[in-house]
Amino acid sequence: MVELVLDAVTKRYDDAQGTETAVDDVSLSVEDELLVLLGPSGCGKTTTLRMVAGLETVTDGRIDIGGRDVTDRHPSDRSIAMVFQDYGLYTMMSVGENMAYGLKHSTDLSKAERDERVESMAEMFGIEDLLDRDVTDLSGGQKQRVALGRAMVREPDVFLLDEPLASLDAKLRSQMRTELQQLQEEMDITTMYVTHDQKEAMTMADRVAVMNDGVLRQVGPPEEVYEN
Ligand code: ADP
Ligand code: ADP
Repeated sequence: MVELVLDAVTKRYDDAQGTETAVDDVSLSVEDELLVLLGPSGCGKTTTLRMVAGLETVTDGRIDIGGRDVTDRHPSDRSIAMVFQDYGLYTMMSVGENMAYGLKHSTDLSKAERDERVESMAEMFGIEDLLDRDVTDLSGGQKQRVALGRAMVREPDVFLLDEPLASLDAKLRSQMRTELQQLQEEMDITTMYVTHDQKEAMTMADRVAVMNDGVLRQVGPPEEVYEN
């Protein structure tokens, strides 16, 4: 129900070597689907995602979420949640505290509502028995489940994932691919998923956006994109 729109979005970095255009005039619309942004290392995927999250400024163009221009909004004012390859968990906190931290900007929720959200999300990711554990005691797969739970507990309109499975071994990766697909089907959320892994794109995507050298080359269902 929520549309994410990138309208001619460009990111230029200026440094001692001169100006580099990391993302070049990218236009894209994502709605109630899992869109995979696919391309080789350095092509601009992470920069694109970070602009949607508000963690990076936009040089030119505009980003709308749910019909609202969020281009200059703070990350906390975008209704997004993001998950990274390296989990980004707080090692000083328990699993449950990490997940509740995702709600720290939701000041309108009571303690009971927070607990309830954390518990139901923990169940969804099969980590309800780990809530009191230290995150440092967890396996990689468990850590990534906590990171996903912490993001989803916010009930975001837009879900952003940057190579979320890249730190996991092949077996776990394939298992989590299936779990994430199920989650996507159940929640029917607007998801942008960055990877350089064609297999991941092929198996998970409703649509694939192929990026190269900062430019979107193709956008379409996996089977169409791979035929070309
Ligand atoms: P990808 O996620 O596809 O690997 P990135 O978005 O990380 O690509 O990077 C795209 C390009 O932007 C790369 O050439 C990278 O070197 C450059 N870049 C990324 N972040 C910065 C930065 N903070 N300063 C300068 N250049 C950057
Ligand atoms: P601050 O204390 O300045 O709010 P945060 O670490 O919470 O610092 O990050 C700044 C903003 O970035 C937050 O308001 C939050 O909305 C957003 N943010 C950070 N990490 C994530 C994440 N994993 N998912 C969604 N939003 C995030």
